[in-house]
Amino acid sequence: MTRRLVLGSLIAVGALSLAVTAQQPAPPMVVEIDKLKDNLFMLRGGGGNTAVFVQANGVTVVDTKNPGWGQPLLAKIREITNKPVTTIINTHTHGDHVSGNVDFAENVDVVTHVNTAANMKKMAAVTGIPNAPVNVFAQSGGRGLAKRTFTDTLTLGSGNDRVDLHYFGRGHTNGDAWVLFPALRVLHGGDIFAGKNVPLLDYNNGGSGVEIPDTLMKAYTATAKSVDSIITGHSTVMTPADLREYAEFNRDFLNAVREGKKAGKSAEEIAKSWTMPAKYEGYGTPQPARLQSNIENIYKEAR
Ligand SMILES: [Zn+2]
Repeated sequence: MTRRLVLGSLIAVGALSLAVTAQQPAPPMVVEIDKLKDNLFMLRGGGGNTAVFVQANGVTVVDTKNPGWGQPLLAKIREITNKPVTTIINTHTHGDHVSGNVDFAENVDVVTHVNTAANMKKMAAVTGIPNAPVNVFAQSGGRGLAKRTFTDTLTLGSGNDRVDLHYFGRGHTNGDAWVLFPALRVLHGGDIFAGKNVPLLDYNNGGSGVEIPDTLMKAYTATAKSVDSIITGHSTVMTPADLREYAEFNRDFLNAVREGKKAGKSAEEIAKSWTMPAKYEGYGTPQPARLQSNIENIYKEAR
């Protein structure tokens, strides 16, 4: 091959990749604001639903979205208030809920369940998701990791500014925090209540398909009287009645796997024959891979 020919090919390849780049600009990073109360907002896009709670002297933010979304999130918070963000609460360890932490000021308090604090130091691969998550905390030298943790409950602030954190047990992970704004009667459930669908059970991060029905029912029982609306991990705002139904859905799902196992069926056979019960109206059709993964893992875990 002549030198000229090689050079010509290189230029052609270069031009081609330029053309591809020009045709596919990065999609704009859009964060959208839903006003839930005068001082509580749900910010959608770029990962899990973020709650922004404007208090007397600062702002508490629940969940901070995917890698690279901290700045767009902060810009959107600036449209709501000029008060400084003083506290971040992460509902659990997943990259689409914690990664924006690194873009907030260094003096911001970061609060999580004790197990989530440990999980965030590792950022382990998520069960059922092939690509390992980007560990933004390794890149940031630990900036954005949890500074304060809780085991069962923790109250931050008082009066209208009060925020109650609760842990009701394992489910999506082993560190799912429920965040209650008592003065506003709003609860942020994170991904243990991501929406009306078959849950992501992240066994690598301590999740449990056997325990999730009890955990959800405990959350319902403990909060139903003090809550009107629930911010879900990835869906719309729902109600305590929706949460109770979701607990029952997960109970029925667990029972279906248990009964199949008792009848001598394999996990694969159970997955093939499972269909969404008709009473769960509006529940999404599960991705086959997630359905299979959940049934295999519950099959191993269930007695
Ligand atoms: Zn999650």
